[in-house]
Amino acid sequence: MAQADYEVLDERFGACINTNATVEKLYTGCRWAEGPAYFPAGRYLVWSDIPNDRMLRFDETDDMVSVFRFPAGYTNGHTIDRQGRLVSCEHGGRRVSRTEFDGSVTTVADSFEGKRLNSPNDVVVKSDGSIWFTDPTYGIDSDLEGFRAESEIGACHVYRVDGETGEVTIATDALVRPNGLAFSPDEQFLYVSDTGASHVKGHPAQIRVFEVVDGTTLRGGGEFATCTNGFFDGFRLDTAGRIWTSAGDGVHVYDPDGTLLGKVLVPEVVANVEFGGLKRNRLFICGTTSLYSVMVPVNGVKKV
Ligand code: MG
Repeated sequence: MAQADYEVLDERFGACINTNATVEKLYTGCRWAEGPAYFPAGRYLVWSDIPNDRMLRFDETDDMVSVFRFPAGYTNGHTIDRQGRLVSCEHGGRRVSRTEFDGSVTTVADSFEGKRLNSPNDVVVKSDGSIWFTDPTYGIDSDLEGFRAESEIGACHVYRVDGETGEVTIATDALVRPNGLAFSPDEQFLYVSDTGASHVKGHPAQIRVFEVVDGTTLRGGGEFATCTNGFFDGFRLDTAGRIWTSAGDGVHVYDPDGTLLGKVLVPEVVANVEFGGLKRNRLFICGTTSLYSVMVPVNGVKKV
């Protein structure tokens, strides 16, 4: 029974799931799957297998998986910008990079005020071309997901890179280990998860919500939701503003009012998700060793 793949906690979750749609395992063999990004022009999904220092590609036309890039600079989160280019967080190079149309990989940001970034974790591009990313220390805490090193900045911030000037500014310094991030569909709010419990015992596993001021700075940052199983890592929004977030037992779906509507249950810890398919109604799920997907009756926010 496909219903076994879902846990309904609020009747509004009925609009978020096809109860006859099952969670499909598309690939397994990763050590830590992360950073899914869907490319409609190529009809493929790229994602990271961080400890194996490689990126993989799932081709939805024939269900084949192949290596997209190896070595890959220990990439973590990816996104697609408004021009359709791949934007990546690299633990190894401690930078945010962009893969240009000619295949070259250029640096978007690798330092702040002359100090190297820690290890960019997840990234999103706003409609004005600005690039927003989180910079926790997971890629320099050990050699597992990058290269062990001391933090030069000594703190973990959310940064904004101006789309025209390339200037890097701190968007917020209010989080312990900022991780996943995404804008509301109208870009009035930025949601950011904080996995600070990895370094500060008892730190709440939350998604926080910030008001975007003048498109450049953040205000507020109060609790949006506290995770009920594990912690929130990466997440995406649908066009109704619901948050589809990674969690310990699958994908948790939140109404914009903060209510946990229900869960898509996955048999592994989930790190990130992405809406793909040409209609953006196929939810791709990176769950530890495997890539999963499930068809949903909602559509992800359009990126390109
Ligand atoms: Mg992450």
